[in-house]
Order: sequence, then C-alpha cells, then structure tokens
Amino acid sequence: MGLFRDKQNPRLQGEANAFVMVQMEFETVTEKRQQEAERLAMLNSSGILDTGPDPTYDAITRLAAEYFHADVALLGFVDATRIWIKSYWGEVVRELPRAHSIFETILEEDGAVVIPDLAHYARYRSRRPLLRHLDVGFFAGVPVRSGNGSILGVLTIFNRRSRPSLSPDELQMLQNLASMVASQLELQRLRKAFTREDARRTSTTRRTSATHSWPRSADLSRALDHREFELFYQPEVELATRRIVGMEALIRWRHPERGLLSPVDFIPAAEETGLILPIGDWGLAEACRQIQEWNLEDPANQSLRVCVNLSARQFSREGLADHVESLLLQSGTSSRQLGLEMTESSLIPNMNTATQVLDGLRSLGISLLMDDFGTGYSSLNHLHSFPFDVLKMDRSFVARMTDGDQPLQIVRTIVELARVLGMDVVAEGIETVRQYRMLRQLGCRYGQGYLFARPMTAEEVTGLLRLPGRILPEPRELPPELLAYPA
Ligand code: C2E
Ligand code: MG
Ligand code: MG
Repeated sequence: MGLFRDKQNPRLQGEANAFVMVQMEFETVTEKRQQEAERLAMLNSSGILDTGPDPTYDAITRLAAEYFHADVALLGFVDATRIWIKSYWGEVVRELPRAHSIFETILEEDGAVVIPDLAHYARYRSRRPLLRHLDVGFFAGVPVRSGNGSILGVLTIFNRRSRPSLSPDELQMLQNLASMVASQLELQRLRKAFTREDARRTSTTRRTSATHSWPRSADLSRALDHREFELFYQPEVELATRRIVGMEALIRWRHPERGLLSPVDFIPAAEETGLILPIGDWGLAEACRQIQEWNLEDPANQSLRVCVNLSARQFSREGLADHVESLLLQSGTSSRQLGLEMTESSLIPNMNTATQVLDGLRSLGISLLMDDFGTGYSSLNHLHSFPFDVLKMDRSFVARMTDGDQPLQIVRTIVELARVLGMDVVAEGIETVRQYRMLRQLGCRYGQGYLFARPMTAEEVTGLLRLPGRILPEPRELPPELLAYPA
C-alpha cells in the first residue's frame, strides 16, 4: 500500500504504475477468457450451431439488404473458429473463418462497428478477405446478443464500394434488426415450450371431443337456418387514449337448450364438416350489416374497423376476395372499415392460394391482421412474405410479460418488429392494469382485453360507442376470479 502512496519517490511510483498495468492486463485477459467460455456455452446450449441456414432469418437479412441498399447482408453465429452463416441475402455465403473477421472487432469493441471505406484500414487490407468472392469497400456489423448480453453472432451489411458512415438512426435500425434475431431465437425456445403445453391441452380436448361427437353437420345447418349464430364484439382501444378504434367480431351460438356457446365448442366441427364456409359467409355479411348500422347511428363511427376471424378453409377458396368485394358493395361498406384476422397456421396448408387470396383482399383496401402472433411456425418469415397490416400479439406473451425481464424483452421486440415492418400492433388479452401500463411504455399502440371490455352483444357495444369521444373510462383492476391467468 505504501508503495502506491509514496508520491515523493518517482522511481517507486513508476514501478507501481507498471505493476498496476500488468495486473489490469492480466485481469482483463482472464475476464475475456471467462466471457468467451460463457459465450460458447450459451451458443452450444441454444442448438443453433449444428443446424444449416434457417429461412426464418431471411426476412431480416433481406430487410437489412433492402433498407441499406447493401450488396450483401449476412447473419452468422460464431463459435471458437467459425462463423456459421444462418442467412444471407445478395450473394451466396456459407461458412467463414472467424480469424480476422469483423466479428473479432465487434467482440473487441463489445458493440457495433462501421467502416465506411475499407481502403483506410490496413488491418483488413493486409489480412484475409472479409468475404470470399466480394471485394468489400464498406461494412457495418452489429452484435446479436443473448438475453444475458453475450454476443452470439453478428448481423452485417457489405457494399462493394465505400459509402458514407451510418447515421445514428440507421445504426439503430441495424441494431433493431439484430435484436429481432435475438428475440426470434427466444421465440423459438418459448414456442417449443408452448408446443409441449399445447400438445398436452389438445390431447385432453381431443379426448373430450371424440367422446362428444356433437355438434354434427345437421346441428350446424339447422342452427344456420334458425339464425342461432350471433356476433359478439370486443372493443379494440388505442392504449394512450383508451379510445375505441375498432372491434373484433367473435361468433357465438345461442343454442335453445345448451345456452350461449363459445366458438371453441363448434368452430372445429364447422371446419371439419365444411360448414365453416356458409357460417363464415354469414359472419362476414352480418359484420358488414352491423358496420352500416353503427355508421347510421353516428357518422363518426365510420372511422371504426370491424375485424372478422377467418378459418383455413376459407382461404382455400380462390374466389374469397371477389365474394368479400361483392358483400362490401351490397352493403355499401367501405373496405377501410373491414379487417380480416387469420392465424399463420391457417395460411400454411395452402400457401399459394393463400398468397393470391391475400393479395386480392389487400388490393380491395381491406386490413389484414395476423392473429395470435408468436405461437405459429417461423413467424418472421411469413410476416414478411404475406401482406399483413397488423400484428396481433398472442395473449400468452401479454400474460407472461410481468414475469421477468426476458418475457418483457420479447414483448418489446415484437412491438419493435412491427414498427420496423411498418405494421400496427394490437396486444391481445390485456387483463391487468400493470400489463396495460407496461404495454404503453413499450410503445404498443393498440390493445384489447377483459380489462377494457369483454366480448359483448352489438347492442351493448352501441352503448360504449356513445361515450364522449368513444373513450373508455380508466380501467380498474379485475377481481382475480375473472382473470384467465391469475398471478
Ligand atoms: P381469437 O381470434 O384469438 O379471439 C380472441 C379470443 O380471446 C376470444 O375468445 C376472446 O373472447 C378472448 N379474449 C379477449 N380478451 C381476453 C382477455 O383479456 N383474457 C382472455 N383470457 N381472453 C380474452 P373467443 O371469443 O372464445 O374466441 C376464440 C377463438 O375462436 C378466436 O380466437 C377465433 O380464433 C375463433 N373465432 C371466433 N369467432 C370466429 C368466427 O367468426 N370465425 C372463425 N373462423 N373463428 C372464430
Ligand atoms: Mg382473432
Ligand atoms: Mg387472437
């Protein structure tokens, strides 16, 4: 200690400084080694190294390449010696050596690296080429980090020619794309957990539905003839103002003996028997009629959008767009006031027809909403390839967002993802004031849930639409017995 304090003796002071520097260097090296060991352990446990390129990420590399007018965009995860390319856009790039790569610099800097003109960086000129076949002039790379901050990989863009450096906004955009990769990884992990849970739940439901083969086709036809189906509506609100901006139409069956039935009790049977087609047609026509009724009641209601759920079977009909167009014309409804919700899984059995149908619907000016986002397959990929306007974040994410930092980060990234893709986000299933507050803070614009309003009859909704400015009162905490996911 005396050594360090002895400011009078310059020789001793010099030795002390040298000693401190050596010690610091030693500590940094040990720390770096430990970080690298943790990083590799994290990568190995994620199972991303022993798999090939993943089309899920093509949406991101494509977005990066297009946004930055880059010649190549690359996403890679990096182990001790190699960069495993998970997705490339612009040029075929497979594995790359880690040594002297941009990744090394990113790891050293512990952050983004942008090099506008490579000619000025001897470090790269004198070593191996950055890409095997591309003569690189400009590059920018940002780290892809795990939930605990370890750098798992890099998202990079390259140009043949040099170009001006990235502006802070541009750099932020590249970082957002990298955090989407991270959240997609996390989504995949969660999805695996959900799938197990779902499989368990479905097998219980299947067992129940196999023993009860009700309703049969004849029951559903009879219900249609006797006008026993009814549309309930759940308001969708702008979170900052609590203004009702739209409604989701949710079908119910008012059965003379069994009472009010939920769609989960009869939509699967309707899909199996094919009766979902006439039931779905009825629902669309009824929603258009109701829109007109609300518009008549108050012209200000013309800014409302009513969203109807569609089943997979409805997409296998090529004429769906024509059918919807004629319904709009007949009822005099503007396409701006209609939205159609569909899940990712409903589009997959018939990808080609679905793309055609969606393009047709979109060109009519109807909004397309991806329902239950995050529970499907490779969500990002489909989000990118189908023309959706709105992403509805599945309520399981909302339910878990108050459980800790990681679930919260996922919600944050879904919101961010939608923003980058130019889509609106609706959070589903908001049940608590805390979820409501957090979603607002995260910049999620819209939401629906029991906290604001349950699905209700058209008449009841009409009452809410009469509120000044269509603004719902400040919500109060629901009693625990009404929560689907009690804390
Ligand atoms: P969905 O489209 O995801 O609809 C949202 C479901 O979440 C609705 O269930 C709604 O009542 C429920 N919900 C809303 N807010 C909350 C909340 O705060 N907490 C909880 N726990 N749940 C909330 P619902 O009405 O039972 O509908 C279930 C599903 O049935 C719908 O899921 C949709 O996929 C399907 N469905 C409903 N109507 C139709 C229809 O007309 N046609 C077709 N094909 N499917 C429909
Ligand atoms: Mg829906
Ligand atoms: Mg939903």
